[in-house]
Amino acid sequence: MTTKVDALVVGAGPVGLSMAAALLAQGLRVRIIDSAADRAQESRAIGIQARTLEVLEIAGSVEEFLELGHRLNGVTLYGEAGSEIGHLDFEHIPSRYPFILTLPQSETERILGDHLRSNGLEIERQTTLVSFEQSDFAVLARITLSDGRQEEISADWLLGCDGARSKVREALGLQFAGKTFDLHFLLGDVHFESALSEDHAHVFGRPDGLLAFFPLGKGRYRLVADNPPEHLRTERKPTLGQWQEIVDGRSSAKMKLSHLGWTTYFRVNSRMVERLRRGRVFVLGDAAHIHSPALAQGMNTGIQDAWNLGWKLALAQQCLAQQAVLDSFEQERLPIEHNVLKMTEFTQNMITAEKPANRLLRDNLLPILSGISVFQKTATKTVSETAIEYRNSPVVEDHYAPNGPHAGEFAPGALVSRPEKKAKAPLASLFGRQHVLLYLAELQTWPDGLHAVKPIFQLIQNHYRRIITPYLVLPQDNPAAEPGVDVLVDVEGQFAQHYNASVLYLVRPDGYIAFRCLAAKQNLLRSYLDKYFVPL
Ligand SMILES: Cc1cc2nc3c(=O)[nH]c(=O)nc-3n(C[C@H](O)[C@H](O)[C@H](O)COP(=O)(O)OP(=O)(O)OC[C@H]3O[C@@H](n4cnc5c(N)ncnc54)[C@H](O)[C@@H]3O)c2cc1C
Repeated sequence: MTTKVDALVVGAGPVGLSMAAALLAQGLRVRIIDSAADRAQESRAIGIQARTLEVLEIAGSVEEFLELGHRLNGVTLYGEAGSEIGHLDFEHIPSRYPFILTLPQSETERILGDHLRSNGLEIERQTTLVSFEQSDFAVLARITLSDGRQEEISADWLLGCDGARSKVREALGLQFAGKTFDLHFLLGDVHFESALSEDHAHVFGRPDGLLAFFPLGKGRYRLVADNPPEHLRTERKPTLGQWQEIVDGRSSAKMKLSHLGWTTYFRVNSRMVERLRRGRVFVLGDAAHIHSPALAQGMNTGIQDAWNLGWKLALAQQCLAQQAVLDSFEQERLPIEHNVLKMTEFTQNMITAEKPANRLLRDNLLPILSGISVFQKTATKTVSETAIEYRNSPVVEDHYAPNGPHAGEFAPGALVSRPEKKAKAPLASLFGRQHVLLYLAELQTWPDGLHAVKPIFQLIQNHYRRIITPYLVLPQDNPAAEPGVDVLVDVEGQFAQHYNASVLYLVRPDGYIAFRCLAAKQNLLRSYLDKYFVPL
């Protein structure tokens, strides 16, 4: 028997779980399968970046992450002599979440899995994609179930979130071009007490190698070292004693390690595909790009791949958008992934600094750079992924406004409330499902300002209500609103701080601004809607 679904997600790692959540939020019928019997048991990806937390806010699960995770406010770098040579402060990150949250990947997967379950979707475990073929209309996938039986699934879309050794990528014939670095790393989760502050990561660069400490909270740390001494490389796994030897030799901090948890050796690959899609099949996350774990980008980039694609796929599925919208997934995400590869390769070369000349550069240049505020801001914005924007996307249109965020940028956060409910909620809680049109009314021109946008609100109500919800945003001391118009109250004035009055902002379900223009030029928005969406 062949079962039919809108989308089949292959892989229930952090990216597959996010993909399923993004599709579920759009009301699609989804199945998610994973060949493993359980979620990851190791800590693997521990760093969650500010932009990912903003996306998790849209997904509705950020609170649990914040509750369980540990906040890192910066990174301290130590040079050859063991003294501090530089410092990055995350307070510069332009986000409601100006820190890196550390949380073991096993916990990230648990939260994301629970979230799916509470929305009615179970992960089908010990269930493996064996093969698939696609036509213009559907993908026929063959899977084996936990009891050994085979099943055929006809899915309108197949999402390959099946990790670095992706079968989906292989079946699509996509090259995974790049290189394997000739560098050996070891990693270990340990417990210790020391004078090193737990709200910072600490990176020691010594001539014989690098040693990094990433606090996980309550005395737990992820240790990463490169270039392990020759006698360690023969061991299958580093022991606690061997870790102690490395820590004593490479850091200036005195500490006694205990409770060695997950520990392993690893090599670094830097590879990516040249396409993220063939027909009705996509690859995302590690299936599409892998790189050095320096800067904690991999899982973060993958989760954002998923939220970029979810709403586009749903609009395509419901025939509500033109082809250009779905095509923009690849156009928007491939350049980001290229940059992540370049940035992580550069950082890895810089921090490991194998050559004496590079070490000299690292130890002399970093102290100077880290004292420069522009460097701090640029570096932390890049690492936190809050620098990500799609201003060059073919489906983004930016028209003149005196100031405020541009189309293509992530919509700044603000607390809002509904007039009838006094409880405040983040603006992001409105995103995730539909596009949202935001218009901040100017009280000086009330009610003329409102009357000016009524035609576009009306057009949306009549023709685009399955795609867009328009909101009128009013200051706290607002006049009575018009019936039939959804109102948000700018309870703390944050919306007015970030956004321009009398400007129309169309925000996508992934939180990025798709379009902006002055309300007086609303015909531009009409043409935009006409160009990319299908009216009822
Ligand atoms: C040491 C280390 C530290 C890292 N630190 C960070 C960090 O701090 N921050 C960060 O952002 N990233 C980090 N990363 C990278 C991060 O772990 C990966 O980017 C992330 O796990 C990718 O998630 P994924 O869902 O794409 O793939 P995976 O987590 O690999 O999940 C793929 C899933 O697909 C399943 N699967 C495979 N084939 C099939 C099949 N045929 N049928 C069904 N299921 C299948 C697998 O069982 C698996 O569960 C780190 C990586 C390493 C190794």
